[in-house]
Amino acid sequence: MEMFHITDIISILGLPYPPIGQASYYVQCPCCDEKPYKKHLNINLKKEVFRCPRCGVSGGIFDLYSLYTGVPRDQVLRVLVDRLGTPSQVKRPKIKVEPMSNDFGVECPITDIESRHATYSALLDKLSLAKDHRENLLRRGLKEADIERLGYKTTPVVGMASIAKQLQMDGLYLAGVPGFYRSDSGTWTFMQERRGILIPVRNADGLIQGLQIRRDNVQRRKFRWFSSTEQKDGCKAEGWTHFAGVISSQLVLTEGPMKADIINALSGLTVLAVPGVNSLTHLQITLETLRERGLREIKTAFDMDFSTNIHVQNGFNHLLALLDEMGFRFGTYIWDPRYKGLDDFIWAQKNNNEGGI
Ligand SMILES: [Zn+2]
Repeated sequence: MEMFHITDIISILGLPYPPIGQASYYVQCPCCDEKPYKKHLNINLKKEVFRCPRCGVSGGIFDLYSLYTGVPRDQVLRVLVDRLGTPSQVKRPKIKVEPMSNDFGVECPITDIESRHATYSALLDKLSLAKDHRENLLRRGLKEADIERLGYKTTPVVGMASIAKQLQMDGLYLAGVPGFYRSDSGTWTFMQERRGILIPVRNADGLIQGLQIRRDNVQRRKFRWFSSTEQKDGCKAEGWTHFAGVISSQLVLTEGPMKADIINALSGLTVLAVPGVNSLTHLQITLETLRERGLREIKTAFDMDFSTNIHVQNGFNHLLALLDEMGFRFGTYIWDPRYKGLDDFIWAQKNNNEGGI
């Protein structure tokens, strides 16, 4: 027997159709998305279901109609027949739907920065900083007060699901926050990462956009994003920039949020960090925003050993081309090449002047 399809409901409710070839897509959730650009309600054409991982509203074809129109669910069938005729009479546009590669692994679109900041701040509040990590940060030149202010914490190794539950009970959104996802049992949790230091990556207003992890005891890819890509209701981190200091007409541009924090703490300079010299996606947007707030001049300060790698060199050239195109005055900090990073150099200078190391 022919049945109504979710596409029939979508068309009479005036909801957007999916991008061509996609069986699963997101629209504004009528229950929890205040603004149209926020899209948390997932509609799955193949399964003929919808679900919002953010507020939990979900159901099938009749529930969707009921949700938008207020018609009680048990009357929806009759109303649909009145409006559309019987299911076999409905004229349907041809929508080509490809089988989904991974029905289970549907990711959430990223949520807004205010929600991410609230969730990440609450998460960090529940964590502590291990002694070895604190000592590591102090050795690099940060003071206790800096560490406190920056909010660095140690990655937890147990209790992820119970922390996630507490966050949820405190009214925080976990859907669309990179790092969080749903376990097989359907409860929220977050990624268990290799032990390391969690670093809040902030915008110019101090809001946490995402978290990076400085992993213990690894040589390659020491810094990674806290991200839950390819997990159920997971979410991918983006290559955010990190801002340290106060907005001014000049800034130092470097690589890595922790380095930016250390340079700022040691020198008082305003510092912006890209996650990597080949990861410039968010740089232009950040610089445009900062230009509106008075930024005119940029001094790059990448590690002195950077130029030996052609891949890194190309990335750096792209970066300079971008600064040039955007019309900024720019130059490069040069320091004693015995010190790898500007942070190392400033810290050594400080210690020499004070008769230290
Ligand atoms: Zn919702």
